[in-house]
Amino acid sequence: MPSTGSFSRPLVVFGPSGTGKSTLLKKLFADHPDKFGFSVSHTTRSPRAGETNGKEYHFTTREQFLSLVDQGAFIEHAQFSGNLYGTTVKAVQDVAERGRRCILDIDAQGVRTIKEKHPNLNPVFVFISPPSLDALRSRLVGRGTETNEALNARLSAALDEIFYARTGRVQVVDHVVVNDVVERAYSLLEKLALGVGEGVKSDELPPF
Ligand code: ADP
Ligand code: 5GP
Repeated sequence: MPSTGSFSRPLVVFGPSGTGKSTLLKKLFADHPDKFGFSVSHTTRSPRAGETNGKEYHFTTREQFLSLVDQGAFIEHAQFSGNLYGTTVKAVQDVAERGRRCILDIDAQGVRTIKEKHPNLNPVFVFISPPSLDALRSRLVGRGTETNEALNARLSAALDEIFYARTGRVQVVDHVVVNDVVERAYSLLEKLALGVGEGVKSDELPPF
C-alpha cells in the first residue's frame, strides 16, 4: 500500500455509476472547504436537476467537446453510457493553483489513461465499491436520473469497472472503500483524503 500521507498527490475516485461517489465527495467538500478542490470535468450529458454548470461539470455540446479534444485540452477523455466525459489540464491546474488537494471523479477508462499516459500525475486511486450489485441497481433506480437504456448501460459498465478493479495482474487500486453504510464509508474516505493515519486499512472488495 502506498502512503496515504502524501496529501499533495491528486486523489482519483472511481467506481460504478450509482455506487455513491458524488454523495461521499459532496460531504467531503462540505466538511473541508479549504482542503480539497474538485477537478471539474467536461461532459456532453445533460445537467441533472440541481446540477450547475461549472460546479459538477462544464456542460458542453459534442462539437465543443471534440474541438477541445483537437486542441489537446484533455488529460484524458472517454465515452461513457453514450456521452463524452473528460478532464482538462486546466481543471487539474486550477485546483493546484489554489493549493488544495485535487480530487478527480472519473470512470475506469480515465483511470487506465492516466496510468498509461500520465504516470507523472502520480495520484492515489480509490475504488468506491457498492456492497452488492442488487444495492447498486436499487441506488441507480432510486436516484431516478436514468432512462431504462442508460440504466442498463451503466450497470453493464459497472461489471467492467469491478472486473478492472479486482484484476490481479497489476495493482490497479491503492484503496477500496465499500459504500455500504454511508457514514462508515465516508469516515474511511475522509481519512484517506486527509492523508491522516498512515496505514489506514482499506476495505476488502466484496466477492460479487
Ligand atoms: P455516483 O456518484 O457514484 O453515481 P451517487 O452519489 O449519485 O452515485 O449515489 C447514487 C444514489 O445512491 C443516490 O440516490 C444516493 O443518495 C444513494 N446512496 C449513496 N450512498 C448510499 C448508501 N451508502 N446507502 C444507500 N444509498 C446511497
Ligand atoms: P455521471 O453521468 O453519473 O455524472 O458520470 C458517469 C461516469 O462518468 C462516472 O463513472 C464518472 O466518474 C465518470 N466521469 C465523470 N467525469 C469524467 C471525466 O472527466 N473523465 C472520465 N473518464 N470519466 C468521467
